[in-house]
Amino acid sequence: MPALPASERGVSVDRSSVWPYVDGEPGEFFYSRYAHPTGVAAERELAALEGAPDGQALLFASGSAAVTALLLALLEPNQKVALAEGAYFGTGVIMDELRRWGLEHVEFDQTGPPPHDADLVWLEAPSNPFLTMPDLEAAAAHPGRVLVDSTAATPVYLRPLEQGADFVLHSATKYLTGHSDAMAGVVVSRGSSDHERLSQFRQRTGPICSADVAALVSRGLKTLRVRVERQTETARTLAERLAAHPGVENVRYPGFGGMLSFDVTGNPVAVERSTLLIRNATSLGGVTTTMESRHRWEGGRVPVGLLRLSVGLEDADDLWVDLEQALAAA
Ligand code: PLP
Repeated sequence: MPALPASERGVSVDRSSVWPYVDGEPGEFFYSRYAHPTGVAAERELAALEGAPDGQALLFASGSAAVTALLLALLEPNQKVALAEGAYFGTGVIMDELRRWGLEHVEFDQTGPPPHDADLVWLEAPSNPFLTMPDLEAAAAHPGRVLVDSTAATPVYLRPLEQGADFVLHSATKYLTGHSDAMAGVVVSRGSSDHERLSQFRQRTGPICSADVAALVSRGLKTLRVRVERQTETARTLAERLAAHPGVENVRYPGFGGMLSFDVTGNPVAVERSTLLIRNATSLGGVTTTMESRHRWEGGRVPVGLLRLSVGLEDADDLWVDLEQALAAA
């Protein structure tokens, strides 16, 4: 079956796990652990969005599955990753997990040049929840390969491959699917040998996402730009108002995207529990605004008062009214 881009065929789901051989030989699709038409259609769209050659995108069962597969498939024992300080804490947890298999990692300040001896430079644009942006020029000058976790920037605001990165990774669970109802990850590779190796690893070890989820990725991409532009507009307004609020300090917002964080001078738990419109929940990138204290997950790595806000599609004034009344409970 030809894999047309979802934009040309609507979003249909082929849930087959098996397709008949063609003239006695496996055709493009034969067993869905290798590849399936719904996934390939979404991957072609993702590769085009990131400006990658030849559809070199691969979907995984989650962002974390994509992180794990990339590290295991493309690095060797005793190689070293330079990981952006303050990047999504789960990425560091995966690297800790792989330490006993010989993977080394060190953290560095991604706003400057990476340590010279790293085999892979791991950046996050912008970092979650500190919202720093990487120095992509410094990273591109590094001899090692460079990956950008661009989950929060989305291809609407950043196309790292065009700035010298070798890989772009997303937790597609967030903005790409966009409705908090699917879990997926994607890696887009610049080099065809990296792409082929990662594809082989995925076939062999099995962390591909399902056809249903791939269809949700394609559906999400249809509204990605509209959603993130509106989320940016609202997040900008809220960041400005928060910065002027007496109970708030250190508003972190890079000027684009729907995620921001700030510190409350009073009791952050009282604030997160007092919202009425904003959902007190984890994750980000959905159409419903969520807010949570990150201290519960990340401990001493983040300030006790830090709240992360993922701005959805509600009215900006309604969100501000809710934040103001919640901040009064601090
Ligand atoms: N990368 C970033 C920046 C994230 O925020 C997350 C999840 O929060 C992940 C990767 C992991 O993705 P997933 O939860 O889909 O496994």
